Amino acid sequence: MDPFEYNANPGRVVFGPGSIKKLPDEIKRLGLKSPLLLSTPQQVSQAEDLAKILTSASIEPAGTYSNATMHTPSHITEEAMSFLHSKSADCVVSIGGGSTTGLGKAISVRTGLHHICIPTTYAGSEMTPILGETQDGRKTTRTDPKILPGTVIYDVDLTMTLPVALSATSGVNAIAHAVEALYAKNKNPIISLLAIEGTKALAESLPEIIQNAQSQAAREKAQYGAWLCGVCLGSSAMALHHKLCHTLGGSFNLPHAETHTIVLPHALSYNAPAIPEAMEKLATALPGSEGDATKGLNLLLEKLKVKRALKDYGMKEEDIDKAAEIAVSNQYPNPRKIEKEPIRELIRRAWAGEPAR
Ligand code: NAD
Repeated sequence: MDPFEYNANPGRVVFGPGSIKKLPDEIKRLGLKSPLLLSTPQQVSQAEDLAKILTSASIEPAGTYSNATMHTPSHITEEAMSFLHSKSADCVVSIGGGSTTGLGKAISVRTGLHHICIPTTYAGSEMTPILGETQDGRKTTRTDPKILPGTVIYDVDLTMTLPVALSATSGVNAIAHAVEALYAKNKNPIISLLAIEGTKALAESLPEIIQNAQSQAAREKAQYGAWLCGVCLGSSAMALHHKLCHTLGGSFNLPHAETHTIVLPHALSYNAPAIPEAMEKLATALPGSEGDATKGLNLLLEKLKVKRALKDYGMKEEDIDKAAEIAVSNQYPNPRKIEKEPIRELIRRAWAGEPAR
């Protein structure tokens, strides 16, 4: 066995259907009494339901801020901070996907307030000490143990309304965290176990969700997988796939989970020659792969009926060269050397929607 270092990210997890009802007890357990609730405009009703659960347990929310936005823009964080100060809240409770979790992290790291996070997608941000923030159109990412939410409540019931298409792409976004953990420069056997278990849970449950969006069992398995994959993201140094998606999302305004879904098989096949052990392990988690992880991933994406071309999301053909230029301008640890021509070909194939080879 190769030597390794392992750091656990501390955090409390409450998992199970109906676990949202335990929120008042969680707040009381921490000796707190006045939470600020956070959501997007699309999830106001779920925030209102939370307020009702709290009020019926004699906890009066300090208020609800419902303007969480993708990529945590700084002006939104400032607006939420002013609202928070006007209400004298003593903790934050975020309910939503990675965008709302991001706002909860941004507030918590600035104020030191405890963050109770209630995820409703499979993005996995709740398990990471990472925060991406946008100012003047530029996204910067930082890592700090103080960013990690203190408590996470996974209640499958809150994911039942997640649209099927977003369930699929959000789930593949989670798998991407696990895939890159398997060949990270700081990989270790504990995180690899979680990566395989998380990928397996998602690869089995996501196609079921596509067939029957109301399957609670499939949704619960997907949520479990997303949790484990989120731990992988929070514990591992990400490589080519995440850097490419960051470049594509940031420079060409492409949607987060959808971009991850399209790029993942291509990034994997680029690295494949340099990661035989990871490819072998990954194949065991992907049904129908017959020992070939790229094939297994292509098959999964077919079953999920997701879009496969970046051009479908508005990326222009002339942007391929620009994207390749940016992708090779910053070198970072990756199992295979980052070289312009093969990277350009990777991006071209993802742009055109050709399957990864
Ligand atoms: P999101 O949070 O932007 O949600 C997308 C849309 O779906 C929103 O309108 C949201 O309100 C809605 N939605 C979420 N859950 C729903 C549900 N159960 N029912 C109905 N509608 C629902 O999307 P996301 O993919 O979860 O998060 C993307 C963001 O998270 C990006 O900004 C990304 O950079 C960030 N992210 C950060 C990390 C990290 O570790 N820092 C990890 C993953 C993603």
